[in-house]
Amino acid sequence: MSRPLDAIFFDIDDTLFSTSVFADKARRAAVDAMVTIGLRATRDECVKELTEVVQEFSSNYGMHFDKLIERLPPESSAGLNREILVAAGIVAYHETKWRELKVYDDCYEVLRWLGSRVPIRGIISAGIGIKQAEKVVRLRVHEFLSPQAIFFTEQIGINKPNPKLYRRVLRDLGLSAERTMYVGDNPINDIDPANEIGMITVHNRRSGRHAHGVGATEPDYSIGDFYDLRDLLQREFGL
Ligand SMILES: [Mg+2]
Repeated sequence: MSRPLDAIFFDIDDTLFSTSVFADKARRAAVDAMVTIGLRATRDECVKELTEVVQEFSSNYGMHFDKLIERLPPESSAGLNREILVAAGIVAYHETKWRELKVYDDCYEVLRWLGSRVPIRGIISAGIGIKQAEKVVRLRVHEFLSPQAIFFTEQIGINKPNPKLYRRVLRDLGLSAERTMYVGDNPINDIDPANEIGMITVHNRRSGRHAHGVGATEPDYSIGDFYDLRDLLQREFGL
């Protein structure tokens, strides 16, 4: 007997695209550009410092490259205009972002397939609203989503992993937890709270830091890509 499904929500980072691989590429490109323009340091040294800056100040901090320069020995940037160095990093970072930000190949195919089968298709994503929205637009997934079902934590004022976030989404759309699915990569932020309120949970183990992480609870299903998701929807939900 197949179970009913009224809605499916997705996380963005490391669920729709490989945030980890992408950020790594963009940061390398930024560092290379700064070295090319005159910064006296090795790529490895810069990448290591930059990675620490992101960890210590968060990925949404606005002055990663300034901090990188401050942390390198003063002779690395002596005689150079600091703003020019920072701008070189920013430009290379953004050019990589324009070029490389793409969903996994199987995403479009499965999102399109979902379009005629699941009434509500949405996003529940943590982070700064405009930055997450930019990803939705750049990844070109907006056309597959229900416009009223896109939720960013900053807009709602409740962050992951608070289960109230997920409860609020269900309430806003009049959905019941046991007929609503959430797909995410992070066992603690995505799977545990959605389990707590009784949603159907799917752990996406394809990429990222959390692919092999363990939360307090088990997901209902695990997938390696979106074809696995389609298989399980056909098998368990009769789609
Ligand atoms: Mg994620």
